[in-house]
Amino acid sequence: MPTGTLYVVATPIGHLDDFSPRARAVLGSVDQVAAEDTRHSGRLLQQFGLNVPLLAVHDHNESERVPGLIRRLEAGETLALVSDAGTPLISDPGYRLIAAAHDAGIKVVPVPGPCAAIAALSAAGLASDRFHFEGFLAAKAGPRQARLRALAELPHTLIFYEAPHRIAETLADMAAIWGEARLATLARELTKTFETVRRAPLGELAAWVLADTDQQRGEIVLVVAGAPEREVQDARALSAEDILRVLVRELPVKQAAGLAAELLGLKKNALYDLAQQLRDQARAEDSA
Ligand code: SAM
Repeated sequence: MPTGTLYVVATPIGHLDDFSPRARAVLGSVDQVAAEDTRHSGRLLQQFGLNVPLLAVHDHNESERVPGLIRRLEAGETLALVSDAGTPLISDPGYRLIAAAHDAGIKVVPVPGPCAAIAALSAAGLASDRFHFEGFLAAKAGPRQARLRALAELPHTLIFYEAPHRIAETLADMAAIWGEARLATLARELTKTFETVRRAPLGELAAWVLADTDQQRGEIVLVVAGAPEREVQDARALSAEDILRVLVRELPVKQAAGLAAELLGLKKNALYDLAQQLRDQARAEDSA
């Protein structure tokens, strides 16, 4: 018997008209829908007159559910995976099930649609040629700030999901760590009645959200500009110096410059003078 198909189906993040005809047709025709919260998805399906059996598959039971679901797919059944809202697997469960389906040679078919991160990016007015999706930051200040420091030099636009009760704190941390001038866009309640999309420097956004508690409600995506190119170059020059300081003690100048340039993705000539200077410095230190 041919194996069944596993559909990965996006559902609305607010506006019900964003539920695509194809998504509805697929959900109306499968043998069962695996849903993060069966009550929540059950209500959505009922609103559209879709009566399909639902099975709960969430972060806490996904591993236990996977073998049974794979057996059913292998027996020819057709299943769909949905999350509470938006695209499954994007800060939502489902990765283990999809990976197991691939391992078992089962056909996996995406039915694309709403995704808060992509909707926010499309309206953010920030560079979108390259972006980094970070999802949720840690709830505790220490690990959150450490992660922000680790991301400080990334030159790509950054996308975060954030809980409304933490948005003021997170914006304040971002302004403190990345600088108040960096541009960011707050995208709140997308596709819903109180939809708000505001682009401003981080310092201004942080002050606005702190002063207006309405901005601390609902669902939020934060899109932040990447590190300015100059900062990245400075950081590269700095680490070039650190690397060269070690290499010139062990290798001829030309070889040290060549190796450091390769490690940092720079032109060899760009580091030759610096390597020579550091080698002279090292010799002077050693003979002092
Ligand atoms: N899988 C979903 C998707 O494709 O967008 C995301 C699920 S994640 C558990 C939920 C988070 O997505 C929310 O806390 C919020 O940060 C963001 N989000 C979901 N719907 C949103 C909306 N309508 N407006 C703004 N952010 C939203």
